[in-house]
Amino acid sequence: MKQAILTSKQAIEFSEIEKPVIKSNEILMKVKKIGICGSDIHAYYGEHPFMSFPIRLGHEMAGEVVEVGAEVKDIKIGDLVTTMPQEFCHECEPCKNGRYNICNSLQVIGCQTPGAACEYFNVDAALIKKIPEGMNDELAAMVEPAAVGVHAVRSGSNIKGMNVVVMGAGTIGNVTAQAALAEGAKSVLITDLSDYRLDVAKQCGITHTANTGKTSMKEAIEQAFGNEGADIFFECVGIGATVNQAIEFSKKGHDIVIVGVFGSTPAINLAWVQDREYRIIGSLMYVEKDFQDTIDYMAAGKINMKPLLSKTFKFDDYAEAFKYIEQNKDTSLKVLIEM
Ligand SMILES: [Zn+2]
Ligand SMILES: [Zn+2]
Repeated sequence: MKQAILTSKQAIEFSEIEKPVIKSNEILMKVKKIGICGSDIHAYYGEHPFMSFPIRLGHEMAGEVVEVGAEVKDIKIGDLVTTMPQEFCHECEPCKNGRYNICNSLQVIGCQTPGAACEYFNVDAALIKKIPEGMNDELAAMVEPAAVGVHAVRSGSNIKGMNVVVMGAGTIGNVTAQAALAEGAKSVLITDLSDYRLDVAKQCGITHTANTGKTSMKEAIEQAFGNEGADIFFECVGIGATVNQAIEFSKKGHDIVIVGVFGSTPAINLAWVQDREYRIIGSLMYVEKDFQDTIDYMAAGKINMKPLLSKTFKFDDYAEAFKYIEQNKDTSLKVLIEM
């Protein structure tokens, strides 16, 4: 079968290897679609702090089951599936507390172990999720990023009835905003510097959008929530400026959730964090319940991923897809590879 390996900076090499032989606890999928994620892009440019060459990418995937191991129950040949890409130890303190997303020895498929950028992919059946009818392989490949948003809105105080600000309307900001509404937020404002990304957010049902290059955060919050103010901030950009903006406009004693991935260590206004008893909370990936609920929200139309899909490339054009993303930074969101 064919596979694609990222061998060094901006170098994807195709090779032929044997089709995997599954263990009794595994399934084999014929990979249908994989998604390219922000972390893949960092890896492609050799800028990912926790990934190294060579690596077979692909942690966002959709596949059709073609073989089922002897011990596997409830998964059949022909099922459309996706994978929760976290391999964890089951034994460390976070794992024992059900927080395996922060396992002390977490390995992510397609980041630290070989991913699904190949024709056939074998996975532990415990990591497999079935996709319900009505969802196609494009949507199946976008469950993984959507689940990041569902976990994020569960990371702080209960989101129900809250006025929510999501900073950043990239894929993760978008899904965080949608998840906030799905989980009962009163009102959601999403901000970005790209009108394209804000327009996609509108198509996904986020009513309040603001381009903070044109409108100040203060005005945007007033327009969205009147004099009620913002109850919780989700930072989905990964830069110090937005964290400090959240600190500036948050209500005393409220939560600021950090979902963005930071490439550097910014200076943060911790004097205000202390003085105003802000709670700064990190959010990483998701656990099984977040993932299953994401599938259910997508099946029910409460999280709409379709507007996020910018373009689909053939597997042979995998490298082209990275170039496209680079050249269309502000006018593209999710890019999929058709295998
Ligand atoms: Zn991803
Ligand atoms: Zn663990």
